[in-house]
Amino acid sequence: MTAPSTLDFLCLGSGTSYGVPMIGCRCPVCRSADPRNQRTRSSAVVTVDAVTLLIDTSTDLRTQALRHGVDRVDAVLYTHTHADHLHGIDDLRSFTLRQRQPLPCYGNAETIRVIRDRYPYIFADPECLLRWSIPRLELRELRGPVSLGGVEVVPVPLLHGRLPIYGFRIGRLAYLTDCSEIPYASWALLEGLHTLVIDGLRPQPHETHFSIAQALEVVARLRPAQAFLTHLTHDVDHGPTEAQLPPGVRLAYDGLRVKVPF
Ligand SMILES: [Zn+2]
Ligand SMILES: [Zn+2]
Ligand SMILES: [Zn+2]
Repeated sequence: MTAPSTLDFLCLGSGTSYGVPMIGCRCPVCRSADPRNQRTRSSAVVTVDAVTLLIDTSTDLRTQALRHGVDRVDAVLYTHTHADHLHGIDDLRSFTLRQRQPLPCYGNAETIRVIRDRYPYIFADPECLLRWSIPRLELRELRGPVSLGGVEVVPVPLLHGRLPIYGFRIGRLAYLTDCSEIPYASWALLEGLHTLVIDGLRPQPHETHFSIAQALEVVARLRPAQAFLTHLTHDVDHGPTEAQLPPGVRLAYDGLRVKVPF
C-alpha cells in the first residue's frame, strides 16, 4: 500500500462541557462578538485520504456536522464517556442511515461498557435490519494500535483526574483532550509530533484538566512544530489569550482546519 499523502484535522468543537457562551452567563467572553469565542463541545474529525474518523460524538454533533459539511464517517474514536463527548451519539443514525452499514466505534474497555449500559435502546436488538432509525453501531474495545482503512490509530492512555481515558495519535498528529496527566509510558507514543492538540482548559488550575500553563509545559517537552489548546472555558478570551502564548502555540476554535504532513 502506498503511504497516505495528507492528513486533515478539523476541530468541530473547542469548548468545555458547558459550551461557550454558557447559558445565562453575561461575562465579556460569553457576550463577545469574536466568533472564535463561541465554542461548541469538544470533538474533531481526522481525514486521511478517503478515510474519515470522528473523535467523540459531542452534544453538538448535529450542528457541527451541518456547519462543517461532515456527511460521512468511517469510524468513531471515543476518548471517554463524559456527557459532552458522548451524548450526541444518537445523531450517528444520520450517518448509518446514509451509509447503510454499521459504524465501528472504538474506545477503552470502560468506555465500551458504559456506552452499552447507557444506551440500551441502541444495542437491544442488533439483528433487526429495519432499525435504521436508530444508530447502527459496533462497539470495539481498543487495546493498542489499530488500522482503520489503512490508517494507523494509536490510542494514548491519559489520566483525566483519576479516570483513565484515551487520546489518539494518527500519523504526526496527537489529539489529547480532557487530560490532567500524561502517564510515563505514554510519552514515548508522542515523540516526533508535527501537530499537538491538547487540553488547556483555562488559566486557573483544575482537578481534571490541564491549565494553560500546564499544557504549555507539555508542549515544551514534546516540541511539536505547532500546538493548539482546546476544551476552553469562558475564562479564555481568544484574541488576548492567544497573543500571550509562545511561538508555535495557538488556541483552537470551532472550524479550525490544519493540514498535517505525514
Ligand atoms: Zn470534556
Ligand atoms: Zn461567561
Ligand atoms: Zn471529560
